[in-house]
Amino acid sequence: RLYNEVIELKGNIRVYCRCRPLSLEEIAKGSSCVVDFDPAQDTELRIICTDSSKKQFKFDHIFGHKDDQDAVFKETLPIVKSVLDGFNVCIFAYGQTGSGKTFTMEGIPENRGVNYRALEELFKISGQRSSLMRYEFYVSMLEVYNEKIRDLLADGPDQLSKRLDIKQASDGTQDVPGLLEPQVGSIDEVWEILINGGRNRSVGSTNANELSSRSHSLVRVTIKGESFVDGQKFTSRLWLVDLAGSERLGKIEVEGERLKESQFINKSLSALGDVISALASKNPHIPYRVRGIEHGPVRKQTDFAESFKLKQMADKLLQSEKENIRLNEGLQLM
Ligand code: ADP
Ligand code: MG
Repeated sequence: RLYNEVIELKGNIRVYCRCRPLSLEEIAKGSSCVVDFDPAQDTELRIICTDSSKKQFKFDHIFGHKDDQDAVFKETLPIVKSVLDGFNVCIFAYGQTGSGKTFTMEGIPENRGVNYRALEELFKISGQRSSLMRYEFYVSMLEVYNEKIRDLLADGPDQLSKRLDIKQASDGTQDVPGLLEPQVGSIDEVWEILINGGRNRSVGSTNANELSSRSHSLVRVTIKGESFVDGQKFTSRLWLVDLAGSERLGKIEVEGERLKESQFINKSLSALGDVISALASKNPHIPYRVRGIEHGPVRKQTDFAESFKLKQMADKLLQSEKENIRLNEGLQLM
């Protein structure tokens, strides 16, 4: 911590649930909401499935149909601010296609999501601290599709098809060498870069929406800070991630390109689940998947539904919070 502001950090991993309102099509079809909750009256922040299973899930916070983009952002604000104090932060949206991940992270032009609001806030606070701290911001944007990393800020098809890998540095941090990382000085500048990067997502696809639900989209903001008070320096990172749809294989997708895509998505989401579980359970071995480095026993290719049970994970995370574990990296699942 370089800056002496009191930040209310409830724990290093938080799991939020957001239930989007029914769409007009769903209302027209006579669909009803499949979960029931009342955060105001429920101290445990439970969500209950209204089907015969009556399954219950616990979260750190539940956003209901009436909670808007601002309400969601307010809850994430303390964690976003902490990157300006040298913490690494990752916010990601997990859920089925159509559940509201992109709406939550990117938003729509008239109703911006977490990404825009977070960056806006970072620039605002850095301005307020200008007499105490010097900050530099760098932005990258990448996509993971079928296990391949594409630099969305790359210029032209040649650069876009360049193969990028994740490498582990000697200090244990991971990086993607060669990833473009332009320096940015204002929210307008960074937003223009992200809009242009977003256009690169659709290259090679006949249907941009289709592809976007089959790939993970990541925005990385690197912050370099220097204190004028004692000269301390740090580099921290904010990752804003819109994950690929978590739905399981449909019957129609049993072969071809779709099957391959789904297998890659399942594999990466289950690896992510393993990483979070390890972080939450204080496991000294975090099974990051980094090329060229042996990371313990090879995981069995188990069924995705078996290896990534959201309930189990959420319970584990809440447990770890109770034990007040301090982890190196703040991870947040929305
Ligand atoms: P995903 O990225 O998870 O596939 P989207 O973010 O594209 O899902 O959301 C699907 C649709 O629902 C979009 O039309 C989006 O605008 C709308 N939507 C999602 N969440 C909300 C919300 N909280 N309020 C209003 N509309 C929403
Ligand atoms: Mg989406």
